[in-house]
Amino acid sequence: MAQPDSLPARGGNKPRVVIIGGGFGGLYAAQCLKHTLVEVTLIDRRNFHLFQPLLYQVATGWLSPANIAATLRATLKRHRNIRVFLAEATGIDAGSRRVLLNTGSIDYDTLIVATGSRHHYFGNDHWETLAPSLKTVEDATEIRRRIFSAFEAAERTAASEQLQALLTFVIIGGGPTGVELAGALGEIANDTLKNDFRHIDPTKTRILLMEAGERILPTYPPELSHRAEISLQKLGVTVQTHTFVTDIQPLGVTVKHSDTVETIPCRTVIWAAGVQASALGKSVAQATGAKLDRSGRIMVEPDLSVPGYPEIFVIGDLANYSHQTGNPLPGIAPVAIQQGRYVAKLIRGRLAGKPAPPFRYRDRGNMAIIGRASAVADLGKLKFSGFLAWLVWLFVHLINLVEFENKVLVSVQWGWYYFSRNRAARLITGDTSTNPKNPRP
Ligand SMILES: Cc1cc2nc3c(=O)[nH]c(=O)nc-3n(C[C@H](O)[C@H](O)[C@H](O)COP(=O)(O)OP(=O)(O)OC[C@H]3O[C@@H](n4cnc5c(N)ncnc54)[C@H](O)[C@@H]3O)c2cc1C
Repeated sequence: MAQPDSLPARGGNKPRVVIIGGGFGGLYAAQCLKHTLVEVTLIDRRNFHLFQPLLYQVATGWLSPANIAATLRATLKRHRNIRVFLAEATGIDAGSRRVLLNTGSIDYDTLIVATGSRHHYFGNDHWETLAPSLKTVEDATEIRRRIFSAFEAAERTAASEQLQALLTFVIIGGGPTGVELAGALGEIANDTLKNDFRHIDPTKTRILLMEAGERILPTYPPELSHRAEISLQKLGVTVQTHTFVTDIQPLGVTVKHSDTVETIPCRTVIWAAGVQASALGKSVAQATGAKLDRSGRIMVEPDLSVPGYPEIFVIGDLANYSHQTGNPLPGIAPVAIQQGRYVAKLIRGRLAGKPAPPFRYRDRGNMAIIGRASAVADLGKLKFSGFLAWLVWLFVHLINLVEFENKVLVSVQWGWYYFSRNRAARLITGDTSTNPKNPRP
């Protein structure tokens, strides 16, 4: 199909670097190219960078969406060699060095693809409306709507069976996102809403965290998984390991545990079980002949370029970089950030005629938060949990938030919540009666 007109070119004959995706990888790459003699165009289908690690706090009414988002245009406005286009990339023409967009096309000399990942329902895409997952601002506000609507519906309900189902929350997937959501739900039920209702007792809420593997936080050392489980139990969360979800229906979830199959009546299910690479990965692979792994990630060279195309780089969640340990690097923000910085440095080196060493990821550790004052931290030789880990978690996330304004607003919100336990952003938004994403009665 013919593309509409190309996007406007910039004057001068500086090399054109096009970056698709203004997430962690793309934004850091752009920022590192700010004083380089190249013309950078950053393309994203959203006009903001989203700090996904704090999405669960939006989903649970702790923060507002604007607290964790920063508009790309404002973030990059001081860098005169960088421009931002709001557009969706639909493919690339690797031969003509052109990115195809929903609004036209744009030519590049160097291309950085950083379009991240999306959720994965392992062939059960029809579960998406029944069990939303957390990836976008819209997902977070939808989950927030479902959580707080369930308590409201319970307050109006007399029948005890229905009441029980409304106050049962199932989270599928015991990775960091599932653990953080479960902990936050525990606090909502036991602290935030404790005295807010007259008919129901929110502390009777059932929160089930289902994990198919043998322990939650499987990428953490076993003792930290154990401590996380204990912290969750203190918040009223029931952790069920070795539990496979076999079906999700509007009124319940069917699970298999050993040889037992059980259907749990519930109204709110949240999916935190799987991710796959962004859809653009397939188009890039088709255009370049690059190989994809089972999650749709592009297998990249040691310098993060696509085999046979030294001018195309793939970074972040979309890249499978297995040259360091033999296994792909994890899909986490520090990997994307370091890869963004590396490619920017490599581009600068090429302009100066300097070869680049292979990319090396520096692993500074992992952290997951469990509720208001507890976390687990795996920082290499240092492994700890509890309040200190929570403080470190707060610090690390604050310094990584993109805009200064967000750092200030989020620290105020966290401070306020720590003392008041009030989740000020627990708004129910969206049309509860007609919202097509929620088919539940
Ligand atoms: C709920 C949640 C919690 C997380 N918690 C943590 C955590 O605690 N610690 C941690 O390190 N990591 C965490 N992560 C993972 C981390 O957010 C990702 O690893 C990181 O965002 C990957 O960066 P990226 O640049 O590859 O992609 P992203 O940050 O996802 O950015 C991709 C960008 O590409 C844009 N885009 C996508 N497709 C197109 C297209 N076709 N055209 C134009 N633009 C497009 C998107 O709008 C987006 O802005 C979490 C992720 C989620 C979803």
